[in-house]
Amino acid sequence: MNSLEGLLRNALLAAARSARLKAMALRLPVTAAVVRRFVPGETIAECLAAVRALAADGLHASIDFLGEDTTSPAQAAVVRDGYLEVLARLAAEGLTGTAEVSVKLTALGLGLPDGRGLALAHAREICAAASAAGTTVTVDMEDHTATDATLGVLAELRRDYPDAGGVLQAYLHRTLDDCTLLAGEKSRIRLCKGAYAEPAEVAHQTREEVSTAYVACARVLIAGDGYPMLATHDPEMIAAVAELAAQYGREPGSYEYQMLYGIRSDEQRRLAAMGEAVRVYVPFGTDWWGYFVRRLAERPANLLFFLRALLGR
Ligand SMILES: Cc1cc2nc3c(=O)[nH]c(=O)nc-3n(C[C@H](O)[C@H](O)[C@H](O)COP(=O)(O)OP(=O)(O)OC[C@H]3O[C@@H](n4cnc5c(N)ncnc54)[C@H](O)[C@@H]3O)c2cc1C
Repeated sequence: MNSLEGLLRNALLAAARSARLKAMALRLPVTAAVVRRFVPGETIAECLAAVRALAADGLHASIDFLGEDTTSPAQAAVVRDGYLEVLARLAAEGLTGTAEVSVKLTALGLGLPDGRGLALAHAREICAAASAAGTTVTVDMEDHTATDATLGVLAELRRDYPDAGGVLQAYLHRTLDDCTLLAGEKSRIRLCKGAYAEPAEVAHQTREEVSTAYVACARVLIAGDGYPMLATHDPEMIAAVAELAAQYGREPGSYEYQMLYGIRSDEQRRLAAMGEAVRVYVPFGTDWWGYFVRRLAERPANLLFFLRALLGR
């Protein structure tokens, strides 16, 4: 990443937290083509239509009911209820074999005063509903100020729901150690590069460093006894994962690739056609701003598409 791209990325990631920009953007119809590319809709029905279309192409899904940085217990309860409804609909429509859910603990109240207990209680309810429906939950990872709390909640969830999954971000200096701790039997860990603006004290800053760290972490997870979920669109990372899987005798289905809805869709289908397990992260809901801006920050070209769409060109 050159310094201009770095500046742009940090400005965009700050925009993800800006209430004013969010209020302006939310006045745009979500149907604006650029947002639609990453967020298939605002309703459960639109989300499930996307999940069914992915399943028809042999792709699994992880559904994110969009929301983060919840500011009241009432809002946290609304998010929990949204997930319970998604799980009920997945069960009713016979989709629990193909789709699970991804949750953010700040959406469930983690950032509120004394919010840890609240987020844990809500996450437990979601895990219980997922387990009864025959599917799983993965706890997303947010910025580094939430890492310890998130891994702590995950450990508690896993006591009752051992298949509750977690996420580790290769850009954090601590993550190789976390991978070692979480590479045990049945441990479902998604490895991603990391999507937040993080300071040099806690995170690698250059693309090369992050890539090197990603491969080192993937090696630990793939060599381990758990179920690694390799979340990346980067062709170099995908090739490295394939090599590591071969080296450690991992059969397709004993690990999975994960990608985001709308990004490298052809690659998702190519891997699935080769017999690999591939899961697509499918976000839906009205609170798409933070998610959407992180996708713009990952790729400056997306910002140009977005600005052109805004200007009607
Ligand atoms: C399933 C899944 C779950 C995730 N969960 C989390 C999480 O819980 N916490 C977290 O911090 N991060 C999460 N991420 C985001 C992740 O940390 C990265 O920010 C993101 O995946 C981009 O990194 P990359 O590995 O794809 O590599 P990059 O080097 O960013 O991208 C490689 C190539 O992929 C394509 N590409 C990547 N991003 C985009 C984009 N936005 N638009 C268009 N093309 C793109 C481009 O062709 C690019 O050259 C998740 C990612 C995935 C795939």
